[in-house]
Amino acid sequence: MATFQFDLCELPPEAESLRGEVRQFLRENLKTAAISRSRSWGGFDREFSRKLGARGWIGMTWPKKYGGHERTFLERYVVMEEMLAAGAPVSAHWVADRQSGPLLLRFGTEEQRERFLPAITRGEMSFAIGMSEPDSGSDLASLRTRAERVAGGYRVNGSKIWTSNAHKSEYMIATFRTATDPKDRHAGLTQFLVETKSPGITINPIIDLTGEHHFNLILFEDVFVPEEMRVGAEGAGWAQVTTELAFERSGPERYLSAMALILELVRAAGPDPTERQAIAIGRVMAHLNTLRQLSLSISGMLQAGQNPNLEAAVVKDLGTTFEQEIPQIAHDVLGLEPSPGTGSQLHQVLAYLTQSVPSHSLRGGTREVLRGIIARGLGLR
Ligand SMILES: Cc1cc2nc3c(=O)[nH]c(=O)nc-3n(C[C@H](O)[C@H](O)[C@H](O)COP(=O)(O)OP(=O)(O)OC[C@H]3O[C@@H](n4cnc5c(N)ncnc54)[C@H](O)[C@@H]3O)c2cc1C
Repeated sequence: MATFQFDLCELPPEAESLRGEVRQFLRENLKTAAISRSRSWGGFDREFSRKLGARGWIGMTWPKKYGGHERTFLERYVVMEEMLAAGAPVSAHWVADRQSGPLLLRFGTEEQRERFLPAITRGEMSFAIGMSEPDSGSDLASLRTRAERVAGGYRVNGSKIWTSNAHKSEYMIATFRTATDPKDRHAGLTQFLVETKSPGITINPIIDLTGEHHFNLILFEDVFVPEEMRVGAEGAGWAQVTTELAFERSGPERYLSAMALILELVRAAGPDPTERQAIAIGRVMAHLNTLRQLSLSISGMLQAGQNPNLEAAVVKDLGTTFEQEIPQIAHDVLGLEPSPGTGSQLHQVLAYLTQSVPSHSLRGGTREVLRGIIARGLGLR
């Protein structure tokens, strides 16, 4: 039977010295209230992303010829960790840095890399993820949005749903069906770079439980996508989209998204917590540190050129389970009721995260789907 590989990974001195620079930057550039920080990597601020780009903290591991900085995955880890711990508004570049850019590096043409990667590293171009459709979520291979060949490119008809930040992004990388093979559902899928302002695209907002608009329903009506915007070969989409999902699941955002509430909880308990509070906070810290070690070891594997898909699924499953426990723990040990839009920062952060954490185990692949991947990776199914 296969086993997990979670080698202990120490951060090298250059990564730790970078941490000091990042903290200094955040002290100078981040003046947001706790309620904004509770959005974690969901906060969108193009100006902030531009500043990070200017510091060289986007596309950190990418080749210099595409605007990258050829730094290590462990240095990148420190930057991500500090951004998440501070609740910095990073979503204008997060998806592009985490998965769209790496996907283009792996499968894109030279022309695509030269055109898109430098703009991403400057924090000037946002990407959305065009995978889910109204009838295709966990079972992504059932997607039906069609891209038919026409002169010079493809004509797209269909829809995408739950597309985070599509209304604020210049591009999305979308997976469409270019052929149907009744014997193989995974065949006939192809990925494309789609400009969100293309004629024929309608982006309709979906308001989530917290009352915010970050989701969208996108309709495609005879949308023309030029041939040169196809990513990879026609029909190679399934292998590519599963690689993209591995990039999507592998980072520390899968256990640090409730950090704003952990910090408020510690602040509220103060220097002289009750025994019950001390036990609860001690347990949270122990879990946080364990998850951090697991997550760091994934960055170590990436740095060593290994493929940590199985381990990333484990950390995402454990990490989102941890995040989902935090509002209940805060509620229990502080005796506070969540209060959306009113009350102290703590009340509001508690309210926001109480409403948002249920989605953490859905986005990027549901708990059941991840456990299926883990079982398969261990040779159990
Ligand atoms: C905050 C958030 C942001 C998102 N952003 C994006 C985005 O930017 N782009 C994008 O494309 N999508 C996005 N999604 C969509 C997300 O990928 C899907 O919600 C997810 O894949 C689940 O699909 P579904 O919602 O259709 O649920 P379904 O697939 O219908 O699943 C419903 C339930 O059935 C369970 N289930 C399904 N199949 C199985 C099975 N074989 N075995 C056991 N249980 C099963 C699931 O685990 C789940 O509990 C986002 C979702 C959230 C919550």
